[in-house]
Amino acid sequence: MPFKYHLNEPHLDEKEIEYVTQVLKMGWLSAGGSFTKRFEDAFAEMVGVKHALAVQSGTAALHTAMLALGVKTGDKVVVPNYTCGACVSSVLQTGATPVIIDVDPHNFGMDLAILEEVLSTQKIKTVMVVHVYGLPCKNFEQIAQLCQKHNVPLLEDASEAHGSVLNGKKIGSFGDVAAFSVRSEKMIGVGEGGLVVTNNKEYYDKAKFYASRAAPHRGEKDPWHHKYIYTDVGMNYLLPHTLGAIGLAQVEKFPEILRRKQMVGELYRTLFKDVPGIKLQEIAPGSEPCYWLNCVMLNKPEEVVRKIGNELMKQGIEIRPAFWPLGDLNAFKSYAYKSQENGKKIFQSLIVLPSSVKLAENNGQGVREIVEIVKNVLKQY
Ligand SMILES: *Cc1c(COP(=O)(O)O)cnc(C)c1O
Repeated sequence: MPFKYHLNEPHLDEKEIEYVTQVLKMGWLSAGGSFTKRFEDAFAEMVGVKHALAVQSGTAALHTAMLALGVKTGDKVVVPNYTCGACVSSVLQTGATPVIIDVDPHNFGMDLAILEEVLSTQKIKTVMVVHVYGLPCKNFEQIAQLCQKHNVPLLEDASEAHGSVLNGKKIGSFGDVAAFSVRSEKMIGVGEGGLVVTNNKEYYDKAKFYASRAAPHRGEKDPWHHKYIYTDVGMNYLLPHTLGAIGLAQVEKFPEILRRKQMVGELYRTLFKDVPGIKLQEIAPGSEPCYWLNCVMLNKPEEVVRKIGNELMKQGIEIRPAFWPLGDLNAFKSYAYKSQENGKKIFQSLIVLPSSVKLAENNGQGVREIVEIVKNVLKQY
């Protein structure tokens, strides 16, 4: 059955078509196009940082960010367990070892006390913090201070949190470096893409170096001696021009996208407030979330939660399961640091609901209908 309400849909119009057409007419499709540069500058401004580098995915952005921070074989990187697999895979791509720690059971962000324990007992190269579903990580300022105290660079994975704010400051501008994803299901999307952002020129230069084959002289005029001199192992990660054009169009309309996403998120919260058997993800004090995805935690056994999810799908609502806690997966189990219980609890009880910008239409009529259906289905189980 086709879904009446999709989980997330891209917000595209004439602007993307026009910019992509201009790129096709220019005839330059590879990395380094003028639209991509404008996209990067506009994105940096949107986050409130000095530099942004557009790459081909959020995973590539995380990998590039860690290369810029000098993460390499033998190093350790702390990663939360409740997140996308890219967080662990990108660490392994650098040759470093992930230290996967449990999260706060209510906000789903990295647990401050466990991080403190790890930082004071192990030598850590980088801490990767994730703002899950667009809600700023709980105790994030304390986490940032703790990293500073231990002299460990902070990498923010803001892939789900474009436009979120904590105490007046944009998410993605706290860390030494931050990574964003702009694949189409995220707050803004170009198909597949990502960005590395930072205020630190040295990190930016290194990110660009590693993302463009580690060939520092490739841009120079003299073609004979320099172009193919590689000074390290590099990646070919830079974003193609056509996608940079879509990115610029998306950033230009971001205020409107954010306004609609926030309207949808806030309406879900109002309508689900005090519904018995439902808990919502906790918003940390001082946060203004972008509400990338909205979810409910059900006070039911795991099998029943799955049945409820299947019933919602049957009624035309596209749901998504929780992240499988990374430290509990066979591929990554050996990197788990102590208990992964909170990640597992979230996994067993959570359902992600449609969160598309389209749901803001007609005064949130779609959200109202989804909430009624969820309430009715809950009564049957
Ligand atoms: C989506 C996502 C990624 C990966 O981004 P891709 O563009 O899919 O490679 C990484 N981290 C988090 C938290 C994400 O949500």
